[in-house]
Amino acid sequence: MKRSKVKELLAAGKTGTDVLVKGWVRTKRGIKNVAFIALNDGSTVNNIQIVVDVANFDEELLKNITTGACIGATGKLVESQGQGQSVEIVASSIELYGACDPETYPLQKKGHSMEFLREHAHLRPRTNIFGAILRIRHAMAFAIHKYFNDHGFKYLHTPIITSSDAEGAGEMFHVTSFDLKNVPLDENGEVDFSKDFFGKATNLTVSGQLEGELGALALGEIYTFGPTFRAENSNTPRHLAEFWMIEPEMAFYDINDNMDLAEDFVKYLIRYALENCAEDLEFLNKMVDNSLLERLKFVINNSFIRMPYTEAIAILEKADKKWEYPVSWGCDLQVEHERYLVEQHFKCPVILTDYPKDIKAFYMKQNDDGKTVRAMDVLFPGIGEIIGGSQREDDPDKLGARIRELNLPKKDLWWYLETRKFGSAPHSGFGLGFERIMLFVTGMSNIRDVIPFPRTPKNAEF
Ligand code: ATP
Ligand code: MN
Repeated sequence: MKRSKVKELLAAGKTGTDVLVKGWVRTKRGIKNVAFIALNDGSTVNNIQIVVDVANFDEELLKNITTGACIGATGKLVESQGQGQSVEIVASSIELYGACDPETYPLQKKGHSMEFLREHAHLRPRTNIFGAILRIRHAMAFAIHKYFNDHGFKYLHTPIITSSDAEGAGEMFHVTSFDLKNVPLDENGEVDFSKDFFGKATNLTVSGQLEGELGALALGEIYTFGPTFRAENSNTPRHLAEFWMIEPEMAFYDINDNMDLAEDFVKYLIRYALENCAEDLEFLNKMVDNSLLERLKFVINNSFIRMPYTEAIAILEKADKKWEYPVSWGCDLQVEHERYLVEQHFKCPVILTDYPKDIKAFYMKQNDDGKTVRAMDVLFPGIGEIIGGSQREDDPDKLGARIRELNLPKKDLWWYLETRKFGSAPHSGFGLGFERIMLFVTGMSNIRDVIPFPRTPKNAEF
């Protein structure tokens, strides 16, 4: 018999037919001669109930059906007698695939802390909460590709191993094939990377943007969606050492087009989740955060505030607040400032633009004031920055001057600079941290809990 998914049976199963389900036992309870097994197969947060007439089954088999065990059950799908489910299965046969020792199985019925579940990341996908999060994560990844495909963007695969940190976005992980016990040195005692695998120093990418620009200046609109690595030793609930980033890059977009795209894109993702992950979101709304659904609906129904950095600083300076990091024009905004603007002042997502050039990357388009650049950060409630982007500097002279001013290694950037020399075009782009939007959509508060296997300082288990 072909296996049915629990989700399909609960939604539209035809009663009176024989079905086969396979999954993991969540609970088993009994009254007199009947046992009730709640079975979950990962297709939905809901379990299907299997009713077992104890007299018809081997005692040893039933003893082995405990929380966590994996079984297959065949039986008739009938209208449920009990409350809480529409249909249930009256078992005619059960096969035990894998028993689960109740003494040592870590996921008992009682609720576990998020910390405990992180230490059991190999089993936590079997909890309701991580099942819900991982299904939503899948739906979001799919929606990202769908959105860009529907809008004519091409998916560009930018390299994971790169040879420059031209962006200066963060600390890098080195990539080498050297025997670390015997690293070749040059005559000055420095590591001789010319003898390394690539003949030069390489690292894991911190952003696909620079290569993304090369794609945009040929294909028009591209996006990247891949893993990104930052060896920043910041133990915060919003930073991972390995995270996924979505980076669209568009020729002929100015900063306003860029903001329009960013706003439309994140609203699309949230709407997609509301429409396609309703059960899981309702579960999270009940278990994690009672205002989740309300917050998601608010964001898709309201326009984001757009405002220059300079005006935001004026608001923050006037705020009746004791800052951990004082604010003044020129400072990089901290999470406390971003969240004040979004959660207390505007009570709405905010896009800040025109940041001081000294706190932003070299490639951002310079404004005529000589002080600011056409940057944009999208700030969200509960999180702070979820998107960072800009219009890019397309003028070769201004870009060259900025590179000299910042003492960046111009020779490593020769290929990037040639795009400005040969057929330069106005263009823009941004980066959305996948796990940051996942935090927002799920209502979870720690970024370690929205990725299956988090990588953070001192943690690369699993
Ligand atoms: P932050 O100030 O929060 O560290 P950033 O300014 O370093 O962010 P960018 O370099 O602009 O971030 O990266 C673009 C996006 O990638 C950010 O808006 C954020 O959503 C995400 N991001 C950046 N660093 C991390 C990280 N360590 N873990 C998860 N997501 C990140
Ligand atoms: Mn950072």
